Amino acid sequence: MSENIYEVIIVGAGPAGLTAAIYTTRRALKTLVISKDLGGQAALTNNIENYPGFNKVTGQDLMQKFYEQATLTGAEFDFTEVESLEKEGDLFILKTAKNQSFQSKAVILAFGLTPRNLNVPGEKEFGGKGVAYCATCDGPLYKGKTVAVIGGGNSALDAAEFLSKIASKVYLLNRKDIFRGEEILLQKVKDSANVELIYNAETKEVVGDIKVNKLVYTQANTDKEIAVEGIFVEIGHLAKTGWVANLVELNERKEIKISVDCVTRTPGLFAAGDITDISYKQAVISAGEGSKAALQAYKFLQGSENIVLPDWSPKK
Ligand code: NDP
Repeated sequence: MSENIYEVIIVGAGPAGLTAAIYTTRRALKTLVISKDLGGQAALTNNIENYPGFNKVTGQDLMQKFYEQATLTGAEFDFTEVESLEKEGDLFILKTAKNQSFQSKAVILAFGLTPRNLNVPGEKEFGGKGVAYCATCDGPLYKGKTVAVIGGGNSALDAAEFLSKIASKVYLLNRKDIFRGEEILLQKVKDSANVELIYNAETKEVVGDIKVNKLVYTQANTDKEIAVEGIFVEIGHLAKTGWVANLVELNERKEIKISVDCVTRTPGLFAAGDITDISYKQAVISAGEGSKAALQAYKFLQGSENIVLPDWSPKK
């Protein structure tokens, strides 16, 4: 097989992509993983306490273990972004940001989700100058400072708990009056003496000079402000699937529709993990989905005829 031709190419190296690589290589399929980072969103999580087999592990350590396991059985890795995917005859052609072209007989899309922006004045301007999207990565820059975390899900709670150990004061702004995240995480945040929870707070503006120095929010129709040096935006994620839209079906959230076996509407093209229309976005689920996609790709490459495509026509 020529150097740039693979049996399987996996796009994404989070829990789904790395697990898929462990499974395809264990079936002796020549596998390349192309990803812009290692570990995806899971690697940005400070503490994972709900991945079976680990009482407590950092996302980075867990993903490093997945990666080592995938390389042990021979998965190859290229850390770059895939810019296009086309199918010509029986082969997929993938072009990357490094101007490389790769071909494969099967592709597994596992490229996860992208952090959502607030879209308020000042957010873009102060990106990297006080506005951050990853507490694990940027948190240490705010030692002894006052910061705000925005969001009401597990990401925001995880970030607030992590930052409470670094920053002198953490404001946690939730636009609702209840949190969506797990009760156990919420309790930890409530137990942190330097975290102040602000409910029903809609972020209005990020203000600063060279760097962020203020956050303006609206509460009960009144504008309020807090002095902060860092703002961590933890408000969920978006599916950036436009570049594969001609090969797959998308739902209203632009997630890739899959069958129970991770099949998409294009033969040989599979998808797994957070980028798909599965209900729960959890590392352990993504890992399971990645293994399913890999086994289904193996079946496809064996020439199995019994891959049944679901009927995705609109419901009447
Ligand atoms: P979620 O979608 O769960 O939550 C997003 C939060 O951001 C909601 O509170 C939402 O508010 C709020 N939000 C959305 N848009 C805005 C906005 N413009 N302004 C202010 N607030 C906004 O995303 P998460 O990233 O928290 O979690 C994603 C998945 O990852 C979840 O399944 C979660 O369980 C998982 N995860 C697990 C972790 C763990 O187990 N340790 C850690 C981190 C994530 P509203 O409710 O009003 O829409």
